[in-house]
Amino acid sequence: MTSPNMSSSDMDYDVKGHLREVLASLPDGVQLVAISKFHPAESIAEAYAEGQRVFGESHEQELARKHEALPKDICWHFIGHLQTNKVKYIAPYINMVESVDSLRLLREINKQAARCGRVIDVLLELHIAEEATKYGLAPDDCRQLLAGGEWRAMANVRICGLMMMASFTDDERQLRAEFTRAADFFDEVKQAYFADDDAFRERSWGMSHDWRLAVECRSTMVRIGTAIFGPRAY
Ligand SMILES: *Cc1c(COP(=O)(O)O)cnc(C)c1O
Repeated sequence: MTSPNMSSSDMDYDVKGHLREVLASLPDGVQLVAISKFHPAESIAEAYAEGQRVFGESHEQELARKHEALPKDICWHFIGHLQTNKVKYIAPYINMVESVDSLRLLREINKQAARCGRVIDVLLELHIAEEATKYGLAPDDCRQLLAGGEWRAMANVRICGLMMMASFTDDERQLRAEFTRAADFFDEVKQAYFADDDAFRERSWGMSHDWRLAVECRSTMVRIGTAIFGPRAY
């Protein structure tokens, strides 16, 4: 397999060693999503050989190529901004869309999943970080989406929890504050809408630079790219 993004440094990078290190310090009950965007299929295959099965990608076409080239028991998560007109391409095989940020997108995922005779797991992406550029639903928009109730009739999506990306900062206090807000919001939503729904249990936060803090703030799912695969060649 070749990839335009592949460089010699990709081949030298010790993916297996870094993956083992992350897994060794991840507490029980926290799932690792290895974020492989911009890394070649070869790097994913290395992590796969080490036992990793859950990978995250943020571009539909790149994901399609990798899904085609790699073993079919890989569990793919979509983590990027997803345009509604792209949903149909990933609906046949995607396991989870972590980045649902509108009712319109949720409707489209439900529709395309129905066409494929599937149920697709989704997370609602929460916008809590200070940066204005990040996607996601503000807590009030998320409340509104859930209060609207339309999602209850969607038989082909299963809402499994929340995803969020903290601000890009090293300020521990700020990171903790953002993760804690997300965790508190999770509790609110869980109690209000999903108290009897065991599927609603995921709190997806924590990336390479902040996952240890995220785990302290009740993350159940960390999305780690750079710390496993090395720097991305954009
Ligand atoms: C790229 C990305 C990650 C992984 O970031 P790293 O810093 O490489 O670990 C996690 N979540 C989302 C939404 C991303 O786009």
